Amino acid sequence: IWADVLGYVRKNISEVEYHTWFAPMKNLGVQGGSLVLGVRNSFAQEYVRRQYQVLLEDALRDLGAENPQVTFQVLPAVQEAMILPEDPPPPRPGPAGRAAPDPAPAENRKSLNPKYTFENFVVGPNNNLAHAAALAVAESPGKAYNPLFIYGDVGLGKTHLMHAVGHYMAERFPDKRIEYVSTESFTNDLINAIREDKMTQFRNRYRSVDLLLVDDIQFLAGKERTQEEFFHTFNALYENHKQIILSSDRPPKDIQTLEGRLRSRFEWGLITDIQSPEFETRVAILKMNAEQSHTVIPQEVLELIARQVTSNIRELEGALVRVVAYASLNNVPLSRVVAAKALSNVFAPQEVKVEMIDVLKATAAHFGLSPDQIRGSGRAREVVVPRQVAMYLVRDLTGHSLPEIGQFFGRDHSTVMHAVSKVTEQMGKDLELTAAVQTLRGQLNDVEDER
Ligand code: ADP
Ligand code: MG
Repeated sequence: IWADVLGYVRKNISEVEYHTWFAPMKNLGVQGGSLVLGVRNSFAQEYVRRQYQVLLEDALRDLGAENPQVTFQVLPAVQEAMILPEDPPPPRPGPAGRAAPDPAPAENRKSLNPKYTFENFVVGPNNNLAHAAALAVAESPGKAYNPLFIYGDVGLGKTHLMHAVGHYMAERFPDKRIEYVSTESFTNDLINAIREDKMTQFRNRYRSVDLLLVDDIQFLAGKERTQEEFFHTFNALYENHKQIILSSDRPPKDIQTLEGRLRSRFEWGLITDIQSPEFETRVAILKMNAEQSHTVIPQEVLELIARQVTSNIRELEGALVRVVAYASLNNVPLSRVVAAKALSNVFAPQEVKVEMIDVLKATAAHFGLSPDQIRGSGRAREVVVPRQVAMYLVRDLTGHSLPEIGQFFGRDHSTVMHAVSKVTEQMGKDLELTAAVQTLRGQLNDVEDER
């Protein structure tokens, strides 16, 4: 039945979508009347639910199910590694069908970074046009847009997208030749070829490929001999309908000292840009990274990092690594407090105030309770005092109103008022309580100081 479902799905979506989302999916059988499908991470889970749940249910209906239901479950890491070899995708049905190729040999992907796939690329409003263009090119190399020119600031995913096209093609057409090269190594190869009198080899290498990815083409500026050679490479490929993808930190018209004939060729196909990701996209990228390294990171920590690092995705990922390393080196659980400390030496302080949840968690931890116990209905002194301390500190540090605090703790505002005056009254008298308040205040304020 799963093969039938996949067959139905495959008829209704593009090959790219199929390979990105359905090929890695795992059929976990029927549970409680619902077909359960395993996906790699919660990003994929959210995405397929949003995009394909209806389609999948249609597929089941088509196969005779009366009340079809599909749910998605995130697979544990070990299973994930086994998906591809175990479940090769079925051949594409229909008259235009061709058998799905075996997984590509390593050969034509050797210049590609295995991490830079479409599946690992988070799509947001900042990059969806570039992503769509790359997908289109991956589906119809040499036909959709040629050349595809992707520009944008450093660290925004240009190289990643180029490699993704390469992987995609390598997987579908194992015999196609794919070459990824930075403009710098293209230049060096050329210089060596000239010096060693190996121009024929050089030309064979670059002119015999089916997909040429040339990264950071802005570095052609001012290099006349390289431009000349690249011009001929470009023409040879273009005339043979071979796909060319170029990246740059700026559009062709802004590349100084680029020959007019090259510039105009760069403008023949499609020019698309990638902008800085917005907050939600940054959080999604962090989430995906965390899941890939099988690290559980609280949402509020991801958000803190995403607020801290705003423009460069490589730095965003670096910040995540730093936070995780800091927490494990210090052997403390990951929290906003810890994350802010981990980042405080690297990034300019950010405006983040202490949140109620921070106070709750810190207070609970201090008294050896769980946050739920503090917010719960327990009336024992061991819970009541910490609860009052937490309310007092929230009032003191966050600027929330009594009703807001009451709501957070599941109580009314007069309870909060009572707690605040109770703790105020005990300060200086009850030494244990005073110490607790001071320690916690120090801990929580520390964050603000360092930010
Ligand atoms: P550029 O070539 O534009 O300088 P890269 O492609 O090298 O940027 O991307 C920098 C890092 O950010 C890489 O690790 C890449 O995987 C990651 N990255 C960029 N964009 C995305 C995205 N949309 N989703 C997931 N990771 C991304
Ligand atoms: Mg790059």
